[in-house]
Amino acid sequence: EGLHVERDGRVYRVRLKDVPDAPAGEVLLPDDFPVEAKALRQLAGLAALRHPAGGGVATVRASPDFHPGDAGVAIGSIVETEGIVVPAAVGTDINCGMRLHVVDLPAERLLAHRDVLVERLKGDYFFSTRDLPMTAEAMQGLFREGLLGWLEAVRRRPLGQLARADLDQLEREIDRVHLGGALDGDPRWAPEDLVPAEGVVRDGGLATIGGGNHFVEIQVVEEVVDRARAWQWDVRAGQVAIMIHSGSRGVGKHVGALWRDRARSMWPKGQKFPPEGLFSLSLADQPEAVAGYMQAEATAANYGFLNRLLLAELLRQRLRELFGEVAAPLVYDLPHNITLPVDGPVKRWITRKGACPAGAEQPVIIPGSMGAASYLLVGRGSPQLLGSASHGAGRATSRFEMGRRGRETEDLGLAGVDCITLREERRIEEAPAAYKPIGPVIACQVEAGLCDVVARMRPLMTFKA
Ligand code: 5GP
Ligand code: MN
Ligand code: MN
Repeated sequence: EGLHVERDGRVYRVRLKDVPDAPAGEVLLPDDFPVEAKALRQLAGLAALRHPAGGGVATVRASPDFHPGDAGVAIGSIVETEGIVVPAAVGTDINCGMRLHVVDLPAERLLAHRDVLVERLKGDYFFSTRDLPMTAEAMQGLFREGLLGWLEAVRRRPLGQLARADLDQLEREIDRVHLGGALDGDPRWAPEDLVPAEGVVRDGGLATIGGGNHFVEIQVVEEVVDRARAWQWDVRAGQVAIMIHSGSRGVGKHVGALWRDRARSMWPKGQKFPPEGLFSLSLADQPEAVAGYMQAEATAANYGFLNRLLLAELLRQRLRELFGEVAAPLVYDLPHNITLPVDGPVKRWITRKGACPAGAEQPVIIPGSMGAASYLLVGRGSPQLLGSASHGAGRATSRFEMGRRGRETEDLGLAGVDCITLREERRIEEAPAAYKPIGPVIACQVEAGLCDVVARMRPLMTFKA
């Protein structure tokens, strides 16, 4: 309906019929994969976005975990804009991302202590027994300059559980965080109670997983495919891995909602509204607003990097209690929901809405589900998806529909899954059957030259809030 669709091998090209000069949106999909009309419409609509004062979307691509988004943008979209930024395309889940550690511990040893580990981690993740006070200085440093700014303040005054952390190791690991976990932010964009002038901040949102399909998952490395690279990244078959999926929690909500409203109120008077509430900010017309949004988004993103770091640090401390000085180095941490500037003579930005950066030689983390394999890959910097890959398998069935199926006790793929949650409905909404098969999603990206598999992991236990 109103859509022009062309198929070229595994690539679908879509265009709105009534905006013929708009660039086509392109999505890469495995053979025989279902493609949802709603997601195609969202992709074509995104490609046609323009600001009345000039600037617009230049290129739109989508990764194979493509599915409709509930905020007007299909999940898996990768958008290059010229002269505009679109706060609503990122939304409130700013710097949602993935983090992967490997643990120098055979899976059987960890499983022998499963119950005590689960009890302690339930306390850390669900019952706020963690003790992570922050100095006002640490919060300011974080929001302004990211992980290193935070760490320098923590070194001056380590509090609570961070007094037990190996701060040298945290510092060494910063270069395995995408962009060094450091974007140019400003504390003025953070919620006020997190940035007092002095004193100690007790932030109940920091180091929490968040709802939905966010998770902390303990996995075993099932197979190493690229031996040389796995060795270099400390990845060994049979050993434990930790995968973390979370974002910037309340700070992203605060920033995302503020700028969604601002972009709407700044839209030029008398001009037709963009579809799906995708109001953009124009560099030509509102340069301060563009700079303000980018700084606010960076502020929230910095918090997202720390949130994942601390979720991992809590787990590392529990592993040390149970197994002694076991090494658990970071492999990589990266955002899959963020707008970043592109270097070059023209003012351009890339927004990834549920897509993983996949630069050449860079680690790429693609989870499947709590009942399927997850993958560690290496990127190839292919321009096909603007230096990106998928950030998962992609949802196949909505939460609502899963709830309905759950009541009819269909096979949800939950056999053998160890999901630790306080909400029974999570197990059903996020069941393996809610996701597309990860195998073809990975194979199709390898065949397209986007990335190569380094190792495959299998879940042992998954924590979901
Ligand atoms: P999103 O960022 O769009 O919310 O989801 C990212 C991806 O995570 C999903 O497409 C899905 O493939 C994957 N996923 C969802 N739940 C789980 C889980 O419990 N464990 C693992 N390993 N992956 C999951
Ligand atoms: Mn998220
Ligand atoms: Mn996510």
